Amino acid sequence: MHARRLRQEVGGRLLVVNPPFPTMTTEQLDASFDLPYTRMPHPRYRKRGPIPAHEMIKHSINLHRGCFGGCSFCTISAHQGKFVVSRSQDSILREVRAVTAMSDFRGTITDLGGPSANMFRMQGREPRLCDECEKPSCIWPRICPNLQTDHRPLIEIYRAVRSMPGVKHAFVTSGIRYDLLLDGRAPPAVRQGHDQYVDELLAYHVSGRLKVAPEHTSDEVLKIMRKPSFALFRRFKARFDSVKARLGKPQLQLVPYFISSHPGSRPQDMASLALQTKELGFQLEQVQDFTPTPMTVATEIYATGLHPCSGRPVPVARTPEEKEEQRSFFFWYKPGLRDALRATLHRLGMDAAAERLLGAGKRKRANRH
Ligand code: SF4
Repeated sequence: MHARRLRQEVGGRLLVVNPPFPTMTTEQLDASFDLPYTRMPHPRYRKRGPIPAHEMIKHSINLHRGCFGGCSFCTISAHQGKFVVSRSQDSILREVRAVTAMSDFRGTITDLGGPSANMFRMQGREPRLCDECEKPSCIWPRICPNLQTDHRPLIEIYRAVRSMPGVKHAFVTSGIRYDLLLDGRAPPAVRQGHDQYVDELLAYHVSGRLKVAPEHTSDEVLKIMRKPSFALFRRFKARFDSVKARLGKPQLQLVPYFISSHPGSRPQDMASLALQTKELGFQLEQVQDFTPTPMTVATEIYATGLHPCSGRPVPVARTPEEKEEQRSFFFWYKPGLRDALRATLHRLGMDAAAERLLGAGKRKRANRH
């Protein structure tokens, strides 16, 4: 809450990183959202036709700012703050009314979200502890006992929005943090709220695909990313599948996001990622290759090859070839990549993995015949 000013000598000059502004209050945040926006792109774009990014957000509602996840590759906490500040219900519903009055609104709110969709109204129970806390994340390596993870205020917002006149659907398309829904140490009423949240989310607020971001399957890489173990994703998937079956909604899909070439990720980690996700029944689409972004720990590791907290070396994929090799593991199912992947796996001494991922190779098949 009270960050220090950082100074570092660089090339004979002094780089100064000022502390962030204090976290806004709900009143201040409401005031910023309640300004009389036109909700239109700048007039200079008028003649250029629809703008894809605007199409995506024009009927969406932001419920809060900030993120306490502290993922090492993400800058959200640097530009929105590490502490979550949430809008009041009145302010949110005022904006929903403004959206429903737009001439091109057909009844679908495309997102009731935020940097992480389900951090609404979450904060430390004892603000005094947060004042002095120096942890970069409130949920990694485990959920802080001082953090309340109550989803009931968010359920109330969802219910209020979907009962508004003119709203036929209100979807949640921002990513959700499933680890918050598996907080086994939360009080019983809060845990019940977690289950209720998953039920209502799947029953009313997922158009077809629910986005979540396990980001990797290797616990070593996840540790560097400050992300929870992949075992939690498996638990959440089991819950998702059982709620989907109970609701009789076979069309619902869980869409996991992954990153290749994040510092710490080696080709063998990507091979394991490909195998594990294949065996869970996924053909991945929502993936990205790591891009160093200023102000993040991951970028510091990318630049130096060292973890700043331990001083230990971390493997980093930097060349286009190394990055492409890691990325190609996402697409093991594309025929054009199979030979290259088989050769990589052979080089890594992972022939058995190649067989599980790609099936028996030509030579082996011939031997079997
Ligand atoms: S005390 Fe817990 S909830 Fe508060 S800032 Fe630290 S980690 Fe987050």
